[in-house]
Amino acid sequence: MSKRPIRVIQWGCGLMGQIMIRYLRDKGAELVGAIDRNAARRGLDAGEVARLDRPLGVRIRHPEEADAVFREARADVCILCTRSTMPELVDSLKLAAHHGVNAITIGEEAFYPWTTSKALTEELDRLARSSDCTLTGSGFQDVFWGNLIAVLAGSTQRITRIQGLTRYNADDYGSALAQKHGIGLDPETFAARIGASNAPSYVWNSNEWLCARLGWRVRDIRQQLLPTTHTEALRSTSLDREIPAGHATGMKAVVVVETHEGPVIETHCEGKLYAPGEVDLNEWTLQGEPETTVTIRKPATPELTCATVVNRLPQLLAAPPGFITTDRLDMAPHVTRLEVAA
Ligand code: NAP
Repeated sequence: MSKRPIRVIQWGCGLMGQIMIRYLRDKGAELVGAIDRNAARRGLDAGEVARLDRPLGVRIRHPEEADAVFREARADVCILCTRSTMPELVDSLKLAAHHGVNAITIGEEAFYPWTTSKALTEELDRLARSSDCTLTGSGFQDVFWGNLIAVLAGSTQRITRIQGLTRYNADDYGSALAQKHGIGLDPETFAARIGASNAPSYVWNSNEWLCARLGWRVRDIRQQLLPTTHTEALRSTSLDREIPAGHATGMKAVVVVETHEGPVIETHCEGKLYAPGEVDLNEWTLQGEPETTVTIRKPATPELTCATVVNRLPQLLAAPPGFITTDRLDMAPHVTRLEVAA
């Protein structure tokens, strides 16, 4: 059977989008469109922005031109690396669905948005079904807060509690993430602006994903958003300023889920500026019969995020239409070439 490269529009060409562009090129996909609103990138060649060895001949265009990009590109899929929440992502996802183009986003809420943005997700689901394309969310949590734990659960006789700890460097991402994590706020402002907010944190959605995957029904879910601090000043490269000692260096979200079936999931998720010696961490313990702990020390979180999405592309093209969260799909296989039947 003859094959052709998967045709991709990259929407959002910041830190994650640039890794994505490199990984797509390395696996033989064809970049057929690129969109970003940041003036520093607009108009430039996507290959140059991603620091590839040669230009790709694809100019990064403003979101106002997105409709034209979709019309001209005849893409199989759009990868969306712009923002985190469903309200922020919905217009881009709608446009992809309107053009019948599959879309996958690393926006954290999209990983399992069925309760936190119910109406928007159901609307997108209807739209995607009617235009015969698939929308989904993926990223680091797909494997490291989701499938990895589901695999271990499959070899555990009885689970009473799942305890997760995940930590990432807030400076590995753009300024939007730094602001959402309250970096630089004094303790009172953090408490008022972030601590008192009921916006779902990333592991709210991933804990709900885990429940869906494991067949557990959520009885109660609650979260606390706490500042992380350091005893000395730390520099934030994404905000380009010094954060005084005692001010928030980031945020720790603690999300506890109680289920009707009995098991409890408690996840601690820290995104912060690192003090010397701190590294990314992903550690999960399944308590029950027997108890198992898996520790991934120093996961390369940005690279793993993008590789997961890229490996999911062929599967996304074959998935049923609708908003299909990955709890309903097999785990992403490792893919060597991003090709589809011609
Ligand atoms: P980044 O470096 O700031 O890049 C995002 C780019 O998208 C920026 O150039 C931004 O422009 C642009 N943008 C934002 N909204 C847009 C829109 N509606 N249309 C066109 N361009 C738009 O951020 P990043 O580190 O790549 O992260 C992107 C998002 O992915 C963040 O929300 C982050 O939290 C999320 N993320 C998820 C995972 C995961 O595993 N799920 C991992 C990493 C990051 P401006 O600079 O003008 O805003």
